[in-house]
Amino acid sequence: RAKELGKNRLQLYTESLSIETFKLFSLESDLRKAILLEDFILHYQPRVNTLTGDVVAAEALIRWNHPLFGLISPAEFIPIAEESNLIDQISFWVIEQVCKVQRQLIQSGDNIVPVSVNLSAKTIMRADLIPTILNYLERYGIEPNLLEIEITENTMIKAEMAAISAIEKLKEIGIAISLDDFGTGYSSISYLKKFKVNYIKIDRSFITSMLVSQEDARIVESIHLLAKGFNLKVVAEGVETTEQLKRLKQLNCHYIQGYLFSKPIDEEQFLKIISNNSRLLYA
Ligand code: C2E
Ligand code: MG
Ligand code: MG
Ligand code: MG
Repeated sequence: RAKELGKNRLQLYTESLSIETFKLFSLESDLRKAILLEDFILHYQPRVNTLTGDVVAAEALIRWNHPLFGLISPAEFIPIAEESNLIDQISFWVIEQVCKVQRQLIQSGDNIVPVSVNLSAKTIMRADLIPTILNYLERYGIEPNLLEIEITENTMIKAEMAAISAIEKLKEIGIAISLDDFGTGYSSISYLKKFKVNYIKIDRSFITSMLVSQEDARIVESIHLLAKGFNLKVVAEGVETTEQLKRLKQLNCHYIQGYLFSKPIDEEQFLKIISNNSRLLYA
């Protein structure tokens, strides 16, 4: 039905508007519909142990399955969702889906690993965040340590007090926290003091250029020293080459996420990988 609606509207508007303009105008109202119809899917990207290649966790990454435009990347619609106050519903949907997938894995007696969810500042600030999470964990019978939360430094800037208290409560419950896109924000280092997170995820931009830029290499190295000092685990994001992997091993980087091991994959492939207790080896 949404498909038909969308098509009719496209015919109406394309005579005077470009597709790009149409997209902009219609995305917000489409997004409202998408939430009702649950027109989203989650892809999962494995996080592997740097030394063994064992899959130790995964990150849930949302895609909008748009009836006209196909899969839309979160980079495109999450900002729209944040501006139009739709983000919390989306966040809660993602958390529930992750709990459902974990329930499925438990039911089939398969191997299970924690799955992390990215949360926006708006959602972190919600007073009902913790009760909602607890509710899903209970409803699906999921141990808290099977869910993890990722927040960016940006979130900290926008929601400092709320984020501090949310992080403390989440950790009390037993949910691990990652500081995502580390190094790209304004005061990364001071945040380590304020927010007692479990993991830092080095932003992909540093990994991408660490072998060609001295400065980026030093940043990656320094983040590892910092992590050691604060007793945090390091995840390197966006590892694409064996050369990058080799260098990260030398730095004793704990975990890797990147195309070298696996792109984000759909639920079916994810369940397969996890239930086979897979060790991902790059080509
Ligand atoms: P992120 O949390 O930093 O996620 C990592 C992004 O890097 C993902 O993009 C992933 O597909 C991509 N990536 C991973 N390894 C590689 C690699 O080796 N090479 C390259 N080129 N890219 C790699 P994706 O899925 O497009 O997500 C983009 C961002 O959207 C995420 O960045 C996150 O900030 C946001 N996002 C995704 N899902 C959600 C969600 O459910 N809620 C919220 N609030 N934000 C989300
Ligand atoms: Mg993330
Ligand atoms: Mg990131
Ligand atoms: Mg990012």
